[in-house]
Amino acid sequence: MKDYTNIEQNISPINQSDNLCFDANGNQSLSADERKEMVQALQVKFIELMDILRISQNDPNCAHTAQRLAKMYVNELFRGRFESAPKLTVFPNRKGVDQLIISKGIDLMSVCSHHWQPISGECAIGYIPGDFVIGLSKLSRIVNWFARRGQIQEELGEQIADYIESILKPKALGVVINARHYCMIARGVKGPEEKSIMTTSVMRGLLLHDFNLRNEFLQLLVKDRI
Ligand SMILES: [Zn+2]
Repeated sequence: MKDYTNIEQNISPINQSDNLCFDANGNQSLSADERKEMVQALQVKFIELMDILRISQNDPNCAHTAQRLAKMYVNELFRGRFESAPKLTVFPNRKGVDQLIISKGIDLMSVCSHHWQPISGECAIGYIPGDFVIGLSKLSRIVNWFARRGQIQEELGEQIADYIESILKPKALGVVINARHYCMIARGVKGPEEKSIMTTSVMRGLLLHDFNLRNEFLQLLVKDRI
């Protein structure tokens, strides 16, 4: 499958370790061995970092922290940077469905590129199919794949929309994300931002141009769950 995530990302081959470097929310799939090597190299750096912060390696509570952090960044928080795109099956739109199909309440966990603190929230995706429909679980996997990288919420929504558009070619597409940014909370930023939730929406095709349709979509998003 074509890797759509590489189209616009800045790729620079020059960095201190001679590795190919790319944007925090970009993707280059690595083998299990390459990821293992990355964890080992990162662990060494986290020990250095703890040293600079004057945290003793003899503290029993921190005995395996460097290793834990290294694994967490490579295999969990930034997983979507190194995993290949999820395999997605699309099905023919045999009945010619011409109305909104919506999946909401998709759990979203990401990390902000600015502070490397969690972004936690929900994503809703709605589309009017063209020739194809897609299973709802696949939409969650797409969200997860893009979220598990260093992100800013605005670009996350655009990446998800670009990818779904490229696969489904829907007549209409909307991606709405509501998320809390823990860099605000963790750093003790006072004021309205501390508890605020950021909402971003990306509208494409008919949802961008048809005001009534967009209204219907947004109303369906706020209705209570079953
Ligand atoms: Zn941040």
